[in-house]
Amino acid sequence: MNIVFIASECHPFAKTGGLADVVGALPIALKKLGHNPIVIIPKYQSIDINKYNLVKYQDLLGVWMGNKLEWCSVWKSSLPEDIDVYLIEFDAYFNREGFYCDNQMNDYLDNPQRFCFFTRAALQFCIDNKIHVDVFSFHDWQTAPGACYVKTWHWNNPYLANAASVLTIHNIGYQGKYSTFGYDYLGLGWENYHTDAFEDFGGINLLKGGIFFADVVNTVSPTYAKETLTELGSHGLHSYLAKKGDRYVGILNGVDYEHWNPETDTYIPMQYNINKIDKKAINKKVLQEQFLLEVNDNIPIIGIVSRFAHQKGLHLLFGTIEKIIKDMVVQFAILGSGDKGLESYFGHLPAKYPGKIGSYIGYNERLAHLTEAGSDFFLMPSIYEPCGLNQIYSLKYGTLPIVRATGGLEDTVIQYDEETGNGTGFKFHAIDQNAVYYTVGWAVSTYYDRKHHYKQMQKFAMQQDFSWDKSAKEYVSLFERAIAIKRQTYYIS
Ligand code: ADP
Repeated sequence: MNIVFIASECHPFAKTGGLADVVGALPIALKKLGHNPIVIIPKYQSIDINKYNLVKYQDLLGVWMGNKLEWCSVWKSSLPEDIDVYLIEFDAYFNREGFYCDNQMNDYLDNPQRFCFFTRAALQFCIDNKIHVDVFSFHDWQTAPGACYVKTWHWNNPYLANAASVLTIHNIGYQGKYSTFGYDYLGLGWENYHTDAFEDFGGINLLKGGIFFADVVNTVSPTYAKETLTELGSHGLHSYLAKKGDRYVGILNGVDYEHWNPETDTYIPMQYNINKIDKKAINKKVLQEQFLLEVNDNIPIIGIVSRFAHQKGLHLLFGTIEKIIKDMVVQFAILGSGDKGLESYFGHLPAKYPGKIGSYIGYNERLAHLTEAGSDFFLMPSIYEPCGLNQIYSLKYGTLPIVRATGGLEDTVIQYDEETGNGTGFKFHAIDQNAVYYTVGWAVSTYYDRKHHYKQMQKFAMQQDFSWDKSAKEYVSLFERAIAIKRQTYYIS
């Protein structure tokens, strides 16, 4: 299958979250299964030409936007397994400090223009380069409109006409809702501006339109697929997803164990594996030193690595974390950035509780690895979590997750059974500060009072396998199904 990923992020070139990890890893797994994927992303200001060996590939690519012709150019790099990655260069849209917003977190108001342009440019690139596409893999609101373009602009193009569209929703909380200003330029057509497609309370909703046009839609865990079919979990889109029927499914993300494996991790001071878990203690010591915590192997550390966004439920820790610190002998190592209120709260805690709470406000890949490796527990009190990667990494690092049982957290963490010591983590259900407090208490008491259970769980956690191999096979079936649906409905002989 010729599979073209069109996405706004791809690790290692451009990343703000899990979407980038998927687009950076799934193509590699698909290539290993004998398929032929390529990836197309925007060339953002932050992508270093030398670091990623970018070479100019196409000087002039003409893209019609509404009735305006824009000219951009294309660069080329690669992912492992010789996967071609093409980067669309258009300075007016992508030579900016952020991907979606400025440094003050203000959304760029021309985001529909930017990402519709990018998506159309990616499709035009396939046409110019005579790529016979079997499936387009679109991701989130940024490239969701591609499903519409394939069916409307390119319905009879020899290279794209047979291509199916699969839309993957990584987070339904972000839908690309904007005003209709500049709608003509997007080329989505006023005939598609209706309630079932792009119209949304007088504005536009790019994700909703993509859901309407895609042959198949999926999200990143089975439980999140169910949650997004409910009013509460769908951010308003449940009825549109329900219309897809069995053409809407959940496939759990895999993780990249080459990048996240304590046995080979070059970011951490001491590598370890299931037979040498005791070496984890050296990482704990360095973590305690770097987060200015009391260096003491006997005190459990709870790690947090997160975007500071409402979705992550970290506001449940307001006050609760201080109660935990007062009532339990435990430490926190907190790494993250985003919401200014949370940054300020977590940023000030170390001064208030020296030696007990450490925090680093910012994005730091090395510290993320160290926090996974050096902590004893990993806390994710998410309000919702489409898949979540950090809890899966935690399992591999023998760092037991404490999570709210939602989305992918529910699907990947096995609840501790106090009778048998079975399980890989600690789960709670209520969106409630007490639930966090008591579940942390349960985990900490297991650490101190049922150490044999803690150790048994650590081993079981490290044996869990969420590699891409299994998920990639599910994506292959999904893509094949999308092709069958597309060719049945739109086949042009
Ligand atoms: P989301 O995609 O919703 O942010 P995930 O758990 O799916 O959440 O993925 C988060 C990814 O981003 C992980 O790879 C995590 O290590 C990384 N990450 C998040 N915040 C930071 C940070 N401040 N520093 C380094 N890495 C971070």
